[in-house]
Amino acid sequence: MRTSQYLLATQKETPADAEIISHQLMLRAGMVRKLAAGLYTWLPTGLRVLNKVANIVREEMNKAGAVEVLMPVVQPADLWQESGRWEEYGPELLRIKDRHQRDFVLGPTHEEVITALVSNEISSYKQLPLNLYQIQTKFRDEVRPRFGVMRGREFTMKDAYSFHLTPESLQQTYDDMYKAYCSIFERMQLDYRAVIADSGSIGGSVSHEFHVLAASGEDAIAFSSESDYAANVEMAETLPLDTATVDALQYILVKAESNEENDDAPEWVLLVLSAAHSLNDIKAEKLTDVAAPLVIASEDTFKAVLGTGSDAVNLADVSVPVIADYVAAAALKDASISAADLRNIEAGDPSPDGKGSIEIKRGIEVGHIFQLGDKYSKAMNCGVLNETGKHEILSMGCYGIGVSRIVAAAIEQNHDEHGIIWPDPIAPFKIALIPMNMHKSQRIQEAAEALYAELVASGVDVLFDDRKERPGVMFKDMELVGVPHSIVIGERNLDNQQIEYKNRRTGEKTLLNLSEAAAFIG
Ligand code: ATP
Ligand code: MG
Ligand code: MG
Ligand code: MG
Repeated sequence: MRTSQYLLATQKETPADAEIISHQLMLRAGMVRKLAAGLYTWLPTGLRVLNKVANIVREEMNKAGAVEVLMPVVQPADLWQESGRWEEYGPELLRIKDRHQRDFVLGPTHEEVITALVSNEISSYKQLPLNLYQIQTKFRDEVRPRFGVMRGREFTMKDAYSFHLTPESLQQTYDDMYKAYCSIFERMQLDYRAVIADSGSIGGSVSHEFHVLAASGEDAIAFSSESDYAANVEMAETLPLDTATVDALQYILVKAESNEENDDAPEWVLLVLSAAHSLNDIKAEKLTDVAAPLVIASEDTFKAVLGTGSDAVNLADVSVPVIADYVAAAALKDASISAADLRNIEAGDPSPDGKGSIEIKRGIEVGHIFQLGDKYSKAMNCGVLNETGKHEILSMGCYGIGVSRIVAAAIEQNHDEHGIIWPDPIAPFKIALIPMNMHKSQRIQEAAEALYAELVASGVDVLFDDRKERPGVMFKDMELVGVPHSIVIGERNLDNQQIEYKNRRTGEKTLLNLSEAAAFIG
């Protein structure tokens, strides 16, 4: 590619409304442009990276035995009514009507469509197991789209769905997908962790998330210092409580039943209570499952939610009867801060599997795999005839990867003060070819054209900077865009039939003979 024919679209200024580094760099490097909240146009450089990410995902999915399909973005509402999610899903689901006033949704995920498809296409156990995937646009009307494509409303997801007659078969495919995800993130050279996860509105029981570690990550991940345990904090907090805590909670319930109001209850207790759902929830369910946020939400979190002036107190410092009064009072009010805002466990807490203590790091969720069981297949009657000729409902797994989010997540891990530093496998271009003052020197132009032709012929992604720009401008642009390797052609080196190679990541510079340059890089 020649820059003169390309849309490089780099910018010097850091955009004011971009909060995190990947968002800033994606705008400055000319990768995306905002159309409206959560909606982005992919410019050529961004699209090249997006396609490289998608292709690695596709290759590893194919290798693991999954088969590619493509489903519509627009889905009829009746499928969602059948699964029960028309009621369940909430405002993230964008609902639209066609000209006949029939209801449709813009697909945030495709369990319904794939289950309907498979129930029509598959009739015998002999056709199982089956794992179908697509790489496609999703729409979620996120309450707070932010950080550019990291949390868009429209985004690209790889979603796979597998169908099985036995739990063993489901487990096998789940394990294969787990391994395929590890290969995907390893090939992209990302620092990632697989963690135990909550299966959220998708449903099901067994579930893992894959997180790219980065300080800007929206999720907190709890690691054990002494074992392989790693969980999304959302999940870790629902692990069993110690007996003293359970006793305290039981006391609170007794007090609450007396319905005494206490107007002096500080606000933070109300917040704790809303995090623990409601007192009725606590009573209806096992205490150990529901009430965890009550004991592990930290002082810092309360302060963060309430602002600095608040009278936050560590729950451990408050006597049980006092807590009981507060909670009883809180039960009479309607606090409405989401549990997610409060969820927190502390570094240094004992670890949930009994080994070591908790370390907390931040992560960006780039992948999520679930064992769904029969949640969708049962509601939508998706089954086959088994070996004895009896109709049996299938069990399902589903496996998502945030293809467009990975582009941003990779930048969070790979940048410096000059710009992006792409890992080779997902770089928009592998090599930047930078001739210095080519428009004033025929010799340089000839050498650059010849090397460009050679690199193109050997199939290397090369960006030939043939603009009439000062060398400094070219160097800066190529660094900002993050091209991992560059070749500079200048008069002085050319006197010795040499060119300069520079590595973006290490900064290492080497002189190469012109004749061996293509072989060195290709
Ligand atoms: P999050 O917790 O970040 O909202 P999620 O748990 O709702 O994500 P899933 O339903 O598990 O998302 O979807 C599979 C993958 O799609 C996620 O792991 C994530 O990488 C990606 N993804 C989800 N929402 C978005 C979004 N708004 N923008 C970009 N990628 C997204
Ligand atoms: Mg979400
Ligand atoms: Mg999530
Ligand atoms: Mg998820």
